[in-house]
Amino acid sequence: MSILFGIFGLLIGSFINVLIYRLPLNKNIVFPRSACPHCHAIIPWYFNIPVLSFLFLRGKCAYCRSRISLQYPLVELINGIVYYLLAKNVTMLSFELLPIILKALVFSLLVAHVVVDLRHQLLPDGINIFLAIFLFTLSLLNGEWLRGLYGMILGLILPLIVTYLFYLVKGVVGLGGGDIKLFGALGLFLGPLGVIQNIFVSCLLGSVVGIVLILTKTLKRDKPIPFGPFIILVAITQIYFPSHFQRAMAAIF
Ligand SMILES: [Zn+2]
Repeated sequence: MSILFGIFGLLIGSFINVLIYRLPLNKNIVFPRSACPHCHAIIPWYFNIPVLSFLFLRGKCAYCRSRISLQYPLVELINGIVYYLLAKNVTMLSFELLPIILKALVFSLLVAHVVVDLRHQLLPDGINIFLAIFLFTLSLLNGEWLRGLYGMILGLILPLIVTYLFYLVKGVVGLGGGDIKLFGALGLFLGPLGVIQNIFVSCLLGSVVGIVLILTKTLKRDKPIPFGPFIILVAITQIYFPSHFQRAMAAIF
């Protein structure tokens, strides 16, 4: 069962790569078929097998030999591994599979968000909407939809206030609209307390990394760093390792 799920994860990972490439360009995510971004040759199915094709082609396009980004097999592999691990204790097809599938799909969308934000400083609305739908369904299944709604409201309002205060003090906009919508979507599952914890920890983490990058001169002072990956790193800990996260919180405060 978990092997099957792992293969499913590899295929979803392959689709996530399509989203990462096409969403920021506002291209249709289903048609046309995948093509090499350099020579535009259509990629046949046998060169589009997750991870294996990349290894077989040694990371180069079969037609123009230009390099294929390592992002493709990495995104496929991490999805495959996480799907495998999530389904590890599932022995048969049952209703219990639904929350696991939802959590797996949420993970894939979070991976897409991280790569798009790192590449384009953008968290696409389409991904936020599907995250919201899947996370709210999870809350419904847990019987905690009301807590989810409060979490969403807080997730939208609190970052807006923080951004506004930041703007008053420093005169620049701190969080982007995509970040705020992401907090709203995550709130649907994390609830009010979870959202507050995420905002606090991700801001702390982002500031520390930002200061280190500026001190080591990796980054120019006035160049913004994408904030989505910090929110998502914290959210992944909260969603998939809740007991570890709570222990860390208890240790810090
Ligand atoms: Zn090519």
